[in-house]
Amino acid sequence: MRAEIIAVGSELLLGQIVNTNARFLSTQLAEMGINIHFHTVVGDNKQRLLDAIKIAEQRADILIFSGGLGPTKDDLTKQTIATHLGTSLVIDQEAMGYIEEFFSKRGRAMTENNKQQALVFEGAAVLKNHHGMAPGMFYQNDTHTYILLPGPPNELEPMFQFEAKPLIAKDIYQNRMIFSHVIRFYGIGEAELETRLEDLIESQTNPTIAPLATDSEVTIRLTATGETEQQAWEAIKDVQAEILNRVGHYVYGYNNDSLASKLKQTLIDNNLTISAAESMTAGLFQAELASIPGMGQALAGGLVVYNEEAKVKQLGVRPETIAAFSVVSKEVAEEMALNVSRQFATDIGIGITGAAGPDEHAGQPVGTVWIGIAYKGLTHSYQLHLSGMRNTNRIRAVKFAIHYLLQLVQNENK
Ligand code: ATP
Ligand code: MG
Repeated sequence: MRAEIIAVGSELLLGQIVNTNARFLSTQLAEMGINIHFHTVVGDNKQRLLDAIKIAEQRADILIFSGGLGPTKDDLTKQTIATHLGTSLVIDQEAMGYIEEFFSKRGRAMTENNKQQALVFEGAAVLKNHHGMAPGMFYQNDTHTYILLPGPPNELEPMFQFEAKPLIAKDIYQNRMIFSHVIRFYGIGEAELETRLEDLIESQTNPTIAPLATDSEVTIRLTATGETEQQAWEAIKDVQAEILNRVGHYVYGYNNDSLASKLKQTLIDNNLTISAAESMTAGLFQAELASIPGMGQALAGGLVVYNEEAKVKQLGVRPETIAAFSVVSKEVAEEMALNVSRQFATDIGIGITGAAGPDEHAGQPVGTVWIGIAYKGLTHSYQLHLSGMRNTNRIRAVKFAIHYLLQLVQNENK
C-alpha cells in the first residue's frame, strides 16, 4: 500500500508556513505500515493541482490532500478533484447543520460561499470536523482512495486520527487492530543499534521494527497487527524481550517518556534534590528539567558561570585548578558540581564545562565536554567528544548529563 500526501496552498510554496501536516500524516501512516514515497506541495492553482493528482495516481494507491477546503476563492481542492473524478457534489445535511449553528450562535448571517463548505462528493464517507466548519472526505473508486482534509492542523490532526484512520485501517487490514509501541534508547548510536538487531529487523514482519534517530536519541517503533489489541501486543512482547536481551542496557524508557521526565521520577522516588552549575550549556540543563511539570520537588536551582571569573567569584572554583588543568577539565567540572551542591544544599550537584565550538576553548578541541556529578559529597566525571555544530553540542551535553545522572542514581540506589 503506497500513499502520497498532497499539501495544497501557495503559502507553503512561499515559505510562509511550514508543512507540518505532511510530517504529522507521514508519522501516522508509517505507524500503520503504509509506505509514503512522495510528498507533494502545490499552490492554489487548478491546473497545477490537477497535474499533481494525475502524477500521484500513477505512483500511489491512497492520495491524501491537506488544505483548500474552506469557503474562499483560493480553496479549490474539492472542486478540482470532483471535476477530475467526474463525481457530483451534494449537500451533507449534518455538515450544513453545524455550519448553520456556527453562524446562529455568533449572530451572523451565513453567506452563500459558507454553504458550499457542506458540499461533499456523492458516495463519499464524510469526516466530521470537530474544530472547524469544513468537513473532510474519504472517497474510493476502483483504483484509488482519496482523502481530503482541512489545512489547519488543529482540524486536520483529530480528523485524521479519529475519522480517517479507522476507515483506512478497516480497508487495508480487514478489521484487524494496529498497535504501536516505542522503545527509547540513550548512549548508543543508530548504526550500532541496527547492527546488533540486524537479523531481527530484516526477518520481522509482525511486528515491524523501525529504528529512528533524532538529534539526541534513538528509538525503535514496534508496530503489530492482530485481531484484538491484546493479540497485537502479544506479538510485540516477544520481540521486545529479545531486543531488551541484546541492548536493554541502553533503554531509558518507553512511548512518551523523555530523559528529563525519567530523571524527575527517579529523583523523586529516591527523595533526592539537585542543583546545577552550567558553563557551556548556560542554563539549558535547568531549562530542560524545568520543562517537566513538578520538577520543583527535585530541582533547587543553579548558576550560569560562563567565564572564568564567574566560576571563581560566584562558585568558588579555585583559580589554581583552572590554571593547572584548564577550564575544560575533569577537575573543574567536579569542583563546579561539588561547590554548587554545597551552595544550594542539595544531594546532587552537576557541573558542565566544554568547548561547544566553532573554535577550540582553553586548549581543548571543539566538542570536548566534561560533566561532573557530585552525589552526596562524592564526585564522578564523564568526558564527551561531540561532533556536532555548536548548539547541537550544547543540547547533546544536556542530554548526556541527564543520561549519566539517571545511570548514577539508579546504580547508587539498586
Ligand atoms: P480554512 O477553512 O481555514 O480556509 P482550508 O482547508 O481551506 O481551511 P487552507 O486555506 O489551505 O485550508 O489553510 C488554512 C490554514 O491552515 C493556513 O493558513 C495554515 O495556517 C494552515 N495550513 C494549511 N496547510 C498546512 C500544512 N500543510 N501544514 C501546516 N499548516 C497548514
Ligand atoms: Mg482556506
